Amino acid sequence: MTNTEIIILGQGIAGTMLGYFFENEGIDFRIIDNEHKYSSSLKAAGNINPVTGRRYVKSWMIDDLLPFAEKVYLEMEQSIGVNFMHRRNIIRTLHNIKQENDWAARIQDPEYSRYLKFYNEDVYGIYEFIQPTLSAGEIIGALQINLPLLLQSYRTKWLDQGKLIHRELDYADVRVGDKYVHIDSDISAAKMVFAEGYKAIENPFFNHLPFDPVKGEALIIKIENGFTINIRERLFITPIGGDLYWVGSGYDKNHLNQIPDPEVRLKLTTQLDSILKTKYEIIDHVAGVRPSTKNRRPILVQHPEFPSLYAFNGMGTKGSSLAPYFAHMMKEVILDGKEAPLF
Ligand SMILES: Cc1cc2nc3c(=O)[nH]c(=O)nc-3n(C[C@H](O)[C@H](O)[C@H](O)COP(=O)(O)OP(=O)(O)OC[C@H]3O[C@@H](n4cnc5c(N)ncnc54)[C@H](O)[C@@H]3O)c2cc1C
Repeated sequence: MTNTEIIILGQGIAGTMLGYFFENEGIDFRIIDNEHKYSSSLKAAGNINPVTGRRYVKSWMIDDLLPFAEKVYLEMEQSIGVNFMHRRNIIRTLHNIKQENDWAARIQDPEYSRYLKFYNEDVYGIYEFIQPTLSAGEIIGALQINLPLLLQSYRTKWLDQGKLIHRELDYADVRVGDKYVHIDSDISAAKMVFAEGYKAIENPFFNHLPFDPVKGEALIIKIENGFTINIRERLFITPIGGDLYWVGSGYDKNHLNQIPDPEVRLKLTTQLDSILKTKYEIIDHVAGVRPSTKNRRPILVQHPEFPSLYAFNGMGTKGSSLAPYFAHMMKEVILDGKEAPLF
């Protein structure tokens, strides 16, 4: 029987961030994960994009989230000796005068000016690779986190330290006692945090929360001697190291599984063919389910009836930027008894 202070379920970016902050506080914890069977984090591009969407709107809380995330990822890199954070500005192609005018209006806005630039010329030489567009904007300060590398690095470390437990948790095995949470007769802890991504919809303790998961798919392609800037031209074409690029992604609420759909592959390939001028090779096709919520906000809660249970979830489409800031806040809720924010 293992006794520990806190059990975390799920070693996605949410659970890993929590583990990192507990570790910094000297808290003994165990993290249970089924070898990333239902992982969203492993399928993500890991982009942190301050200005998004068709209307070029700043991401929620980005002025706070971005510097915090950058600081935490840097500290993690230094502590583990692995480089997984890349400063990768985003080229946003502009196709018509309306888009140019909208972009120009944003640049005039002091709330946006530090994030945006405008180019009439092909400053980054991208038209060698993609069909030329009218003009392009650049989003400054964007980051790209190599989430598979980050997760793998912490998995190896925590396996070596005996903190990571390979296991598929059956919720029926969780028993909440007066002082301890027990998992079978194997592990007991004072507290347990559920950070299992979209599978929380099956969690009998927390399935009342407003989850609204969305499947996404991406192609991993190879372009020899390609570009290093991140390009958003209808699809994201994100460099992920070597000659590889992540290309995606779709939104599907009806098929909540990790199975890549051949129809989506065809759609992505057709779109890509109309964007790229350069030769490419498809290396892989991946699918994952984003743990989104109805109001697109993260979930940090303590169970109303069983105070030793917590949920940290709802990273949605933005786990790379939300997880550092809100895992830190969740740590304060769990360890210091701070009030959990309600969004
Ligand atoms: C195609 C795609 C593209 C994306 N692109 C981006 C992007 O560019 N930028 C960005 O910020 N976000 C992006 N996202 C979203 C991002 O992936 C999520 O916000 C984030 O990864 C969610 O992390 P999580 O830790 O909450 O969940 P997950 O990463 O899903 O982690 C949960 C873990 O718990 C494990 N688990 C679940 N149930 C059990 C159980 N019963 N027993 C044991 N283990 C269990 C799972 O296997 C998994 O390892 C993208 C997502 C997809 C699908």
